[in-house]
Amino acid sequence: MKILVLNSGSSSIKYQLFDMRDESVLAAGSVEQIGEPGSHLSHYVRTPLAEMEKTIRTLPIPDHRQGFELISAILRETGALADTGELRGIGHRVVHGGEQFKDPARVTPAVLAAIRALIPLAPLHNPANLLGMEVAMETAPSVPQVAVFDTAFHQSIPPHAYRYAIPKRLYETHQVRRYGFHGTSHRYVAKKAAEFLEKPLNTLNLISLHLGNGASAAAIQQGRCIDTSMGFTPLEGLIMGTRCGDLDPAIIFYLARETGLSSGEIEAILNKESGLKGICGVNDMRTIGEMAGSGNAEAQLAVAMYCYRIKKYIGAYQAVIGELDGLIFTGGIGENADFIRAGCCENLAHLGLEMDNEKNIGRRKGCFALENRTSRVKILVVPTNEELEIAEQTVVCLGAE
Ligand code: ADP
Repeated sequence: MKILVLNSGSSSIKYQLFDMRDESVLAAGSVEQIGEPGSHLSHYVRTPLAEMEKTIRTLPIPDHRQGFELISAILRETGALADTGELRGIGHRVVHGGEQFKDPARVTPAVLAAIRALIPLAPLHNPANLLGMEVAMETAPSVPQVAVFDTAFHQSIPPHAYRYAIPKRLYETHQVRRYGFHGTSHRYVAKKAAEFLEKPLNTLNLISLHLGNGASAAAIQQGRCIDTSMGFTPLEGLIMGTRCGDLDPAIIFYLARETGLSSGEIEAILNKESGLKGICGVNDMRTIGEMAGSGNAEAQLAVAMYCYRIKKYIGAYQAVIGELDGLIFTGGIGENADFIRAGCCENLAHLGLEMDNEKNIGRRKGCFALENRTSRVKILVVPTNEELEIAEQTVVCLGAE
């Protein structure tokens, strides 16, 4: 059974084709710079020797429709797919599902309209996600399509955690509340952690830390999300590559008054020039690690601030979750940066978290545990795989019909 997963951005479409019998990747790639000079396709296909063979084509790709047609054509040409009719379904990543979508949804005109109505909440992402769905529906009308929402996993968060302490009319009229993002990743790693620990997910209390360019924490109680650090937008919470995370909102008004910057300019500063980049000039954690190691004080401060913010969330979530079973690290930084994992778990023995420093060193394949023998809480690295989770949810959604 083959499932195609699409992640459509404003000028790109990323894709992965799965064989769901063994969850293997048959092909993957992206069309990028759609509608711009230099538009190109990068395609990887699995060879009979289970290696991935790469093809790159630079050609004009004027719009998403042509991008999708190119993807269908290269999948056929390289033998990954005989025809789109061979697909059991197409799973689409959709960033914002608002309060309506607590689960994946079969794409219908009504679902498309509901996603369109949510554009004000995700003006950068939902239009591009919609475009991808519309093009795929037109081009492969006989293939069932499913929307999988980044926000859905967080819809179990109770009102006392999702409401902000602002006038309720702003919630009722303008839907201002915590939504949370990275839900597909948090759900996937929680599931994998449960498999690794050989316990049912609905018996586990977990904190998952998705640390990539964006970063968020989720508090998972008995398998259900009860809080998360990203909020109304992905700007809230942890320190990220270029986003500030938690901030006194009054700073925005102060900056507007003192500098004359517009709200759009301040928004750009907080989203694109802040976080690690704002503190030390660089947003790539590999480089920051090297700089910190060679004595750069700003990089050392960036690492200290990054880990300190995470520790505050670990403490806060432990307070509301009850007895914690596991702390999960995932995302490019969580999976690879041992010095960050060490910094986040330093001096947390009083909360039951004790890392074995030897086990923490370096990178390994698959899930692995980092806690020492006396640690009450398991400390796990669980590689995320959002595309596979979208494929699995697509199968479940179509199977439930
Ligand atoms: P995205 O959120 O864009 O999917 P990723 O999950 O790939 O991002 O994470 C990107 C981050 O992971 C970057 O800051 C990168 O420096 C960091 N990273 C990747 N590999 C390593 C490594 N070996 N050591 C430290 N940081 C790493």
